[in-house]
Amino acid sequence: MSTLTCHRLDPFDGQSKLRSKCHRLQKFLEATAPFNGKLKLRSGRRWRLSLFKVKNLGTPDSFMSKLEKAKADPRIVPLLTEVKSRCTIRFKKSDGDAWGSSLTGGVAQIDHTKTAYPAASLAHELLHIIVQLKGIKQIRIGIWTLDQTEMFNRFMKAINNELQHHRMFPTFISVGFTPSEFYCDSDTQIESHLRSTLANGVESLIELVPDFLTLLAPGGSISQSAKDELLEAFLNVNNRIYRDQLVGIRNEISTWASSNSFDNIPTIKQICLHMQNPCVAWFGFNDTDKPPNAGFFVGEQFEVEGP
Ligand SMILES: [Zn+2]
Repeated sequence: MSTLTCHRLDPFDGQSKLRSKCHRLQKFLEATAPFNGKLKLRSGRRWRLSLFKVKNLGTPDSFMSKLEKAKADPRIVPLLTEVKSRCTIRFKKSDGDAWGSSLTGGVAQIDHTKTAYPAASLAHELLHIIVQLKGIKQIRIGIWTLDQTEMFNRFMKAINNELQHHRMFPTFISVGFTPSEFYCDSDTQIESHLRSTLANGVESLIELVPDFLTLLAPGGSISQSAKDELLEAFLNVNNRIYRDQLVGIRNEISTWASSNSFDNIPTIKQICLHMQNPCVAWFGFNDTDKPPNAGFFVGEQFEVEGP
């Protein structure tokens, strides 16, 4: 049990430095019932006095940022302890409007921003770090004869993220969060985003796969009945020409989701093979990786000529 006592001295006739110093604390304390009285000093000056006694307060909310409060959440503590035991964590205010994280050279960086669910958002990013510490690798660079546009970049980001999400989700639930809190606040828009993808049509499979992986991802705001309906709509895109490939990808995701493995590379290879077979692709784990001596191939090996 903690007891916090604050004496607020407020002179009748002047400015109170003490009051400005205590302003944030006052804001909190004003909600409590004060004892008010007057104080007469020996010098004759008179002061208005408010005496507050606040019991069982702990640290006032206004003193603790939302991030600090999230770190102290009992659902977060075991996750934070696990990450801290294996690497250094740096927190950074996000440049954008979403939380994010990275793990490079034993340093985990978590980018945070305003959210309705700070603890759930922090748990999500800590779990991204934990599954990487346990062995899941991020692909950061790639070459694929299937596509050499921004679509390929979007595919790499999606496959990194979504395979991790399947491995993270059971822990997220087991520590006490709900499925609908698993993604960022804007996840409520995801169903309409997927419906607009289907309405607008696609020109290639790689354009469709990131959204398909989003549909198959665990948790979130989409109801099961809407997921079932959207799955059928995805399989029917462009007169079903991608149906067999999408069914194959869904089977790979199901196998991955029900396994305990942290080796995501075989699943990435299988998904690529559903999208192109024979497949000519290479992926690296660092920006400086180059084939054939780093990373991994899907299909036949090759070398890159020139600089
Ligand atoms: Zn994520």
